[in-house]
Amino acid sequence: MQLKTILNRVHPLKSFVYEQVRLVEESGGPVIEIVIQPRANSQPVCSGCGRKRRGYDRQSQRRFQFIPLWGMAVTFLYTMRRVDCPGCGVVVEMVPWAEGKNHLTIAYRWFLATWAKRLSWKEVAEVFHTTWENVFRSVKMAVTWGLEHRNLDGIKAIGVDEIQWHKGHKYLTLVYQIDDNVQRLLWVGEDRTTKSFLRFFRMLGKERSAAIKYVCSDMWGPYLKVIAKKASKAIHVLDRYHIMAKMNKAIDEVRADEAKRLKQKGKTPVLKNSRWCLLKRPENLTEKQTVKLSELLKCNLKAVRAYLLREDFQRFWEYRSPAWAEKFLKEWCTRTMRSKIEPMKKMARTLRSHEGLILNWFRAKGTMSSGVVEGLNNKVKLTMRKSYGFRTSEAIELALFHTLGALPEPNHTHRFC
Ligand SMILES: [Zn+2]
Repeated sequence: MQLKTILNRVHPLKSFVYEQVRLVEESGGPVIEIVIQPRANSQPVCSGCGRKRRGYDRQSQRRFQFIPLWGMAVTFLYTMRRVDCPGCGVVVEMVPWAEGKNHLTIAYRWFLATWAKRLSWKEVAEVFHTTWENVFRSVKMAVTWGLEHRNLDGIKAIGVDEIQWHKGHKYLTLVYQIDDNVQRLLWVGEDRTTKSFLRFFRMLGKERSAAIKYVCSDMWGPYLKVIAKKASKAIHVLDRYHIMAKMNKAIDEVRADEAKRLKQKGKTPVLKNSRWCLLKRPENLTEKQTVKLSELLKCNLKAVRAYLLREDFQRFWEYRSPAWAEKFLKEWCTRTMRSKIEPMKKMARTLRSHEGLILNWFRAKGTMSSGVVEGLNNKVKLTMRKSYGFRTSEAIELALFHTLGALPEPNHTHRFC
């Protein structure tokens, strides 16, 4: 079987034919070169208007990179024609395997983009002997196509989240769709201001915004403000995951502060290596941590009392009736306010001032799964870690949309990966 037969099967060209195939030894290794010719009597297509036009002349030969085969680079060679178009003048023709001046074929760019979902961009570049920039541009093409062709209708539940992408308080605001059947990244915006978040609703449009029934967010002020304004009819829920994360931060603050004070007083360091004992749920502790925890619980330490308050608060999420949950929340806040542990008192004050939104969790219960935002947040962090070294928010945005956007892809005649 000839290589041409295989090519016609996996990458058929209309109005063009694969001619000679040859193996060329180059300094970088062997290259499979494939010469393409226009089919006899076929008319070139004008790259300005996309219509078939009369040929004008031919230019010098151009090289297009195709998907490598058996570790060898594959290159298409083609001499571009120019057309004489009444509307566009004398311009170069349009070819179906590449776009504009790009020297990578469309198939190769989709191939790189697909691998970039599984490996880091650097790894893709290494494995396929290409540059990081080529992988970057391929992902950009895939994301641009996907965003243009995605469907934003029927979104019922969204979750808002923020992520720090750079030291020095550089944040991105992320909006996810968290419906039962579709969970995906919908939008990424720089900063976490009112102004930036408003852009999401502008992108979504009035009608679709009005159709949103549930919004899930953390307690960040600007988010609360924008949601109240733009999705006023939706049930706004404060996310369990973010509330518990905030509480863990308070416990950690108490522990660090207390450990420092004990050390200054020259007391035995009981709190040493206690961080994860106090932050993890008891069921997730290792055996060693469990022993440490039982040792800690015997001491009358602020960090331990803060820990017990948090463990007690977990009961809140188990309630079925909003009325009982409310009663519990009020009692818990009163108890915590008497605890004399400042970071926990601050937490209780925060919970009190957002009581309504927190209790909405029970109103939305069963319709919205609370773990979704946490799961997506973890995936975002993983993608960011894999893309370590990105300097621009554009690259991060592309990587996030590429892996979490559930973006559509064109129907290729053949899938290469
Ligand atoms: Zn034209």
